[in-house]
Amino acid sequence: MKRKTGQDRDITRKWRPATQAIRGGSARSEYGETSEALFLTSGYAYDCAEDAAARFSGDQQGMTYSRLQNPTVEMLEQRIALMEGAEACRSMATGMAAMTAALLCQLEIGDHVVASRALFGSCRWLTDTLLPKFGIKTTIIDGREFANWEAAIRPETKVFFFETPANPTMDIIDLKTVCGLAKSRAIVSVVDNAFATNVLQRPMEFGADVVAYSATKMMDGQGRVLAGAVCGNEEFINEVLLPFTRNTGPTLSAFNAWVVLKGLETLDLRIHRQSANALKIAEFLESRVARVNYPGLASHPQHALAMSQMDAAGPIMSLYLDGGRERAHGLLNALQLIDISNNIGDSRSLMTHPSSTTHYGLEEEARLEVGITEDMLRLNVGLEDSKDVMEDLHQALSSVGL
Ligand SMILES: *Cc1c(COP(=O)(O)O)cnc(C)c1O
Repeated sequence: MKRKTGQDRDITRKWRPATQAIRGGSARSEYGETSEALFLTSGYAYDCAEDAAARFSGDQQGMTYSRLQNPTVEMLEQRIALMEGAEACRSMATGMAAMTAALLCQLEIGDHVVASRALFGSCRWLTDTLLPKFGIKTTIIDGREFANWEAAIRPETKVFFFETPANPTMDIIDLKTVCGLAKSRAIVSVVDNAFATNVLQRPMEFGADVVAYSATKMMDGQGRVLAGAVCGNEEFINEVLLPFTRNTGPTLSAFNAWVVLKGLETLDLRIHRQSANALKIAEFLESRVARVNYPGLASHPQHALAMSQMDAAGPIMSLYLDGGRERAHGLLNALQLIDISNNIGDSRSLMTHPSSTTHYGLEEEARLEVGITEDMLRLNVGLEDSKDVMEDLHQALSSVGL
């Protein structure tokens, strides 16, 4: 595996993110293929026993086993790190494997985590159920208020964990002040950046220490594979995260890594078009329903903050119909184009009822606290002609009397 002859690393590192998304991390085999090669191999053979020993001792560079290294997977990791502006990245089998590893690798009994309450359902399971089981205490706060972060800090606080925009209420967290507070108190900030991706928002530019992804969402972006990634500095990735993942094995398959590599090539195009479509649709919905949560709308209470840390508002919004589960389910059942599906970041428009699907596992009280009511729907706006999506919404809204 080699880079292009004469390619200067100092120059290639400086390429802008849209260029990195296509060329970052690419390494060619002896055949000179233009598209990245897919290495479906679990192991590697050595020329002699001494080479095998040297690989294991670290005296010789090279791969030993695909739980630990794979050429296709490494291309993806380097590409994501370059797009992120991070020193290093490790990919994972799923977004949840990424979140779990990013937290567990650095926490132990007696430690304390502060997390924002508006989190992806399974992330709330980590903070509310898994971590406490291992003697790691968690405090769940309304992360929109800076004072809540400050008030929750204890001497044993090790990690701040949050997502912005948050699923499904589209709450925004001020990256600069919250990550700055973490830094000033030697707390590691872990940001779940699945909704925006590094094309729309680069949390490290605002002081985040660790950025974690569900690459299943916008990065694949075409609803094909599950994948995850964790970005950080070299010390965190190589000395804290790597020992955990090498031995517990949440490794991304080479095939899925290859699919995400292909997805990244069009991420910049897709996410900007989906954001533009979503803004048009959010404006349309605002004239028809009780409320729309979309950070790109001037009516979003944190619109200015969102636009100060994001290039565009992304494909996802939520809306309230004013009429309970019956009306929400009625609208879903009337859809002709938009699929009823709980995935997001797909090139297809998808809609779900969070309280009975993605956030079903949360206690009702916790759901209501974050604004997940029975009449709330979440919409992922895809790449279809936005007029067709709007017409579908129009007829479905009309069918439930809106
Ligand atoms: C989907 C999602 C996850 C989990 O990712 P998987 O790839 O489904 O495991 C985590 N956080 C956020 C914000 C998500 O949207």
